[in-house]
Amino acid sequence: MSRHEPRHALRVGVGLDMHRLVSGRPLTLGGVSIPFPRGLEGDSDADVLTHAILDALLGACGEGDIGSQFGVGRPETRGISSLVLLKQVVILVAAKGYRPSNVDATVLAEAPRIGPHILAMRERLSAVLQIPLDCVNVKGTTAKGLGWVGAGEGIAAIAVASVTPVPAGPLAVSPHRTRRAHVKK
Ligand code: MG
Repeated sequence: MSRHEPRHALRVGVGLDMHRLVSGRPLTLGGVSIPFPRGLEGDSDADVLTHAILDALLGACGEGDIGSQFGVGRPETRGISSLVLLKQVVILVAAKGYRPSNVDATVLAEAPRIGPHILAMRERLSAVLQIPLDCVNVKGTTAKGLGWVGAGEGIAAIAVASVTPVPAGPLAVSPHRTRRAHVKK
């Protein structure tokens, strides 16, 4: 979209992701390392929660998905923190004249319990998204023993994200600067 075209006041996207739990991998959810005998399989750190949020933000901006933005199986994303990818998406969102305004997500996992880690996840995510803590909500639920999630074979996450236009000014026009960079010290 050209910056001269009218922008919508609010745009919303949804993201859904799932990864297999395997031995020999660390478990990272929402940028937080969680002690658990198994971790999620994938090219990056396989942070399924952050991936769902990425896809929701990309969806809100009409920019495809994590695969179309970062590719699949590329060496440069092997083992990378998904928070790094999220930072890049926040820059992309800014380049389109928007900023994240709210995120709500649910992690679907039979184990481990994520409740004790939710605040840390929200803190990590809100720092990268550069929005207040209460604009990033994370919930956890189980599958009550049903299906592959219930059997502990993997973890899924779903997220809804909204973006709002950035007020006109230098803060809105540079895709290479973040809002934090413009905060006066
Ligand atoms: Mg994924």
